[in-house]
Amino acid sequence: MARAVLLTGGNMGPVARNLEEARRRIGERIGTVVAASSMRESEAWGFESDDRFLNQALVVETALDAERLLDACQQIEREMGRVRTPGAGYSSRTMDIDILFYENRVISTERLIVPHPRLEQRDFVLAPLEEVLPGLVHPVSGKTVRQLREELKRRGGG
Ligand code: AMP
Repeated sequence: MARAVLLTGGNMGPVARNLEEARRRIGERIGTVVAASSMRESEAWGFESDDRFLNQALVVETALDAERLLDACQQIEREMGRVRTPGAGYSSRTMDIDILFYENRVISTERLIVPHPRLEQRDFVLAPLEEVLPGLVHPVSGKTVRQLREELKRRGGG
């Protein structure tokens, strides 16, 4: 079994309900969810939006290898990531699932970069992550999640 840390997020539709549903599907198809942060609200990052974003960090015990884990996350995104508007087919995406960590592995392929790149620059990632795994050590920088978040706050970023 491997321990993976996922971040679910969305900003469209009934966001909290969507995150609950994503967590349920992750539990069914990826593995046991052993810890979950609260759903943290954040501002849209990198662009203007009136919709609120919610993010949740999930710690999952999984038998899937990292590539299969990405496949499973993307399948859940696809299933959930569209809102059916009557008469208008599908519109935009509601569910994003990122792999933040997979064990303490460092992975860099065309499809998958783990730990997730730029996680240390984003408080919407570090805040929920700190709730569940404050002492987790980033395998590249050697810093804990708590340290990364303190540094981000000091820089005034995120
Ligand atoms: P996004 O649209 O921002 O969710 O990005 C999805 C793309 O990022 C997909 O093509 C994935 O193959 C790629 N990707 C690379 N690293 C990761 C990761 N750690 N978690 C999720 N997607 C990843």
